[in-house]
Order: sequence, then structure tokens, then C-alpha cells
Amino acid sequence: MYIWRCDLTKQTEMLLEQLLQETKEVLLSGKYILGKKLERFEEEFAAYTGTRYAVGVASGTEAIYLALVAAGVKHGDEVITTPFTAIPTFSAILMTGAKAVFADINPLTYTIDPNSVADKITSKTKALLPVHLFGQMAEMDELRQVANRHGIKLIEDAAQSHGSLYKGSQAGAFGEMACYSFYPTKNLGAFGDAGAIVTNQKEYYDQLKLLRNYGQEALYRTVINGINSRLDELQAAYLSIKLKHLDHWNEQRSHLAGIYYQQLNHLSVQLPCELTYTRQNYHVYVIRTQKRDALQQFLEEQGIQTNIYYPIPLHLQKSNAFLGYNHGDFPEAERACEEVLALPMYPEMDPEIAIRVSKAIKQFYKY
Ligand SMILES: *Cc1c(COP(=O)(O)O)cnc(C)c1O
Repeated sequence: MYIWRCDLTKQTEMLLEQLLQETKEVLLSGKYILGKKLERFEEEFAAYTGTRYAVGVASGTEAIYLALVAAGVKHGDEVITTPFTAIPTFSAILMTGAKAVFADINPLTYTIDPNSVADKITSKTKALLPVHLFGQMAEMDELRQVANRHGIKLIEDAAQSHGSLYKGSQAGAFGEMACYSFYPTKNLGAFGDAGAIVTNQKEYYDQLKLLRNYGQEALYRTVINGINSRLDELQAAYLSIKLKHLDHWNEQRSHLAGIYYQQLNHLSVQLPCELTYTRQNYHVYVIRTQKRDALQQFLEEQGIQTNIYYPIPLHLQKSNAFLGYNHGDFPEAERACEEVLALPMYPEMDPEIAIRVSKAIKQFYKY
């Protein structure tokens, strides 16, 4: 039996009756955009994340874009982020007309290194955009201090950190805003594209609600220039159903991570880092080794799918040649791209699979 890195069908099967019931209700309600299902989900998601407000939008990319716009980021400004992240972190910056400036990562946590951030700040820097990568929270106290010292905004890319904690709090407690994606494979995933921004500040909440709906204060009356980026009623209804299971699903992931740890910690591979003051949601289970490519091929031959997040750092992507970066500019991010490998991990995965995958890895290392 082939082992997939991620399988979404089991979760859907378990919730199918409820999902169909909600679908029927929404379809027959005649209200598909900006209705009660979205309002309910926004309240639930704000409560879940421990923030005052949530605003549902059309994707994680647009969540970041709209948060940057609400924070005042404009053409000509600079936004500092990590080169070791998903493309959309960068796309969102580009959409604002600002320039993305990269800072290298910490090789143990894969998150942006606050010391290298401080070196990149110029008079044009408007915001820091750390990413809580693979579910590991970035060093928020240090980043908040840097932001405060320079009077710049802190926006969190929380697209991979639903339920993760830093010193007891979730994303949204540290930055002006935190941006979530509900892309289907995220820890909380919709059945299509969806995203949300959470914040504790009313002024951002008010701005974001205008920005996602053409800037309309009332029907056909615009007070600012906005776009169309709304989380629709069907997706909101599905997300409400799934949100109730998120903590349990994260616990299941954590249990699987425990099995991987037990099986693999004596091998010469680097396992996900466990800091005493963070709790990660194991969005993906990423190991690293200099024999990455050979290991991946070996596992594929054993019928085990793995993935590489991410094979190319953003500063070396062809499309980003215009930024003028070179090989060697961010050595830790570049090295991570050559060494990381994501093992099979999803909440419903049978623990036996984690053991089988581990056995194959031990076989590779002839242990
Ligand atoms: C998934 C993801 C996004 C973008 O989300 P979409 O909903 O696909 O637009 C942004 N940043 C990171 C780190 C992501 O993993």
C-alpha cells in the first residue's frame, strides 16, 4: 500500500453528513456572500485564537496583502520577510507595490532570525512579516522589540500555525495582525480557497472589513479603495464544522510526531525543534539531512511519498531575479532548501504508518 504524505479524504468522510446538511442549508438560504455563516465563523475563530476580531477573506495570500495595506504599506516601502517560505508570502508583498527585503533564518527553527532582521532595517522599512513556518512560531518577543524600536508594524504570516503557541498565546497576540490561510491542506482547511485576518485592534478590523468589500461603507458608497476578497458562506459553514475538531487533530499530529521522535532521534537526521516556550501544530513534519535527495528516492522506492518544502529560496527564484540577490546571500535558507524533507503527517494517519516510515529511514541509514 502506497503511503501518501497527506490524505484529506478520511477527515471529509468523518464529517460528511454534517457538511452535506450545512451545504443544503446554505444553498436553500439564498444568501451566499457576507451572511450569517461568515459572521458566526468570524466570532468562533476570533474566540479560538484568543483575539478580539477576525475578518474572513478569500485566501491566505489576500489576508497578508490586505493586512499590509491596512498597516499602511504602500508602493516604495520595504517589508522584511524570510526567503524560506511559501511563494504567497512574497506575492502578497508584491501586490502592495512594496519591495520585499529578505533576512536569513535560524537553522534549527527555520524561522526568521531577529538579529539578521535588525541589519536589514532602513528608513523605508514599513513592516516585518515573520512566518510561523511548519507550525513553529517565530521569535515574537525579539521581533516585537525590533518593530517597536524602529516604529514599524509587525504582521504575522500564520498560514501554517493554526493552534500553535508562543509563550501560551496564538498568532495575533504579538503582531498588529495575523494572517491565516484555510487552503485545503492547512491544519484547518476549507474545500477551496479561504483565509482570515485576526487582530485585537478595532481600527484594523474596521479597515479590513471595508478593504475586502470594494471599500464599501454601505451599498454603493465607498469610503476607501478596496477589492473583492470575501470568505463565502459555504466555506465559512464548513470551517465552523472543522474548527471544533482542530485541537483534537493537532493532538493527533503531535502524537505522531512523538512516534517519529522515538523512532528517529538517535539517527543523524535533524528532527523538528521543540522549544520549551512554544507548542507547534506539526503542520508538516520536516526532518533535515545532507543525504536528503538519496533518502527521498529510497523512500519513494519503498512506496512512501515525501515532499520538499521548499526546494528553492525566494531570493533565487527565476521570477525574483529583478530583486538582484545572489547565491550565498542567505546561506542558512539556501542550505535548508537542500536538506529538508517532509515525512507523511496528517491527523488521521495510522500510527503504524509512522512506524513503517521510520523503519524505512533506519534501513536507509543501515541502523
Ligand atoms: C499557504 C500559505 C500562504 C497562502 O495561502 P493561500 O490561502 O494559498 O493563498 C501564505 N503563507 C504561507 C507560509 C503558506 O503556507
